[in-house]
Amino acid sequence: MTATNPDLAAALKAMPLVDHHVHSVLKDPMAEAQLLDALTEADHPIDRQTTFDTQVGFAIRRYCAPVLGLAPFATPDEYLARREELGFEEVTRLLLSDAGIGTYLIDGGYNPQALLPVERMMELAGGARAEAIIRLETTAEAVMAASSSGADFVARLYPALEAAAVGAVGWKTVAAYRTGLDLDPAKPTDAELAEAVEAWFAAGSPGAPARLVDRAIVRHLIWWALERGDVVQVHAGFGNTNLHLPTANPAVMQRFVAATQHTGGRIVFLHCYPFLREAGYLAQVYPHVYLDAGLTINYLGANADAAVRETLDLAPFTKVLFSSDAWGAPELVQLGARLWRDATARVLSDYMSVHRWPLAEAIRVAELVAWRNAEALYRRAFPSGR
Ligand SMILES: [Zn+2]
Repeated sequence: MTATNPDLAAALKAMPLVDHHVHSVLKDPMAEAQLLDALTEADHPIDRQTTFDTQVGFAIRRYCAPVLGLAPFATPDEYLARREELGFEEVTRLLLSDAGIGTYLIDGGYNPQALLPVERMMELAGGARAEAIIRLETTAEAVMAASSSGADFVARLYPALEAAAVGAVGWKTVAAYRTGLDLDPAKPTDAELAEAVEAWFAAGSPGAPARLVDRAIVRHLIWWALERGDVVQVHAGFGNTNLHLPTANPAVMQRFVAATQHTGGRIVFLHCYPFLREAGYLAQVYPHVYLDAGLTINYLGANADAAVRETLDLAPFTKVLFSSDAWGAPELVQLGARLWRDATARVLSDYMSVHRWPLAEAIRVAELVAWRNAEALYRRAFPSGR
């Protein structure tokens, strides 16, 4: 590993970011158990020491402790005491406003009642802008809750989706959690859809529909969004234990991806770990596929360089995006930005010194990932954070 080029490091430090996949942070009061829970994908409770004896724990002690006025590598006890002392608002303000993110594309679909309202989060982030990403499955579930029959659901679905689309910049699917990504590539027929919808309606009760786990309906929703010419974010790779890792591999979605390449819609695989190479392959061979490493960067901490390198393997550099995928803890926003900037500076410095990349080209590639590709993918200008 070569030394980080100081000019490149300075450029990356000052570079504006568009966080194209992020959730909100937990609202006050944030109990310690909630904070610790936000720092792992595990569903079982994990004690303080074990939570901090991880890459993300070390990264918090290294990078977040100084933002809160502590020495780097303050102990977990000191860190949590300092959090208490400063209070929720100040901790959140310090960690968010220092991240240098100008625009957040927010998926508010997971456990929204626990989260800070987006407007308040943007204030604490120093006046950043938020754009909305809408979950396809959650929208369909809300429609089903209000429907009196399967046919009623179908009639209500499209107006509800169109209404949700107003003011949003894209869609998200959690198919990896519900059906797996190994979806039949064909667009479901009307008859197939009607049959699936009737079965889903019958499985629930009014006001409390069953979770959407039907493969035909999920497939239909993704097809619908892509044919509309929209961006669909696809959760891929690791997540909590509701997910079956082998079918969260973007590679198992290849036939579906191939079938949708002429729709005009775009697919962006989120986080992908440990399948970043598979996602990179799909991004190379299909014109409408993009990827990010998302929370992989946070969870790999001191090993984040490995993920940054893999995002720059097979995928064209115009198809790789930055995101923090922070949920719950403002630390994850701070770290998402910080670790990405540092790891990218190290990886590109290596290309400069070993492979003779010119500085201006290294900066250009970093800028593509930081914000330019997000503007191109979502086809709009986003305010910068610096
Ligand atoms: Zn996410």
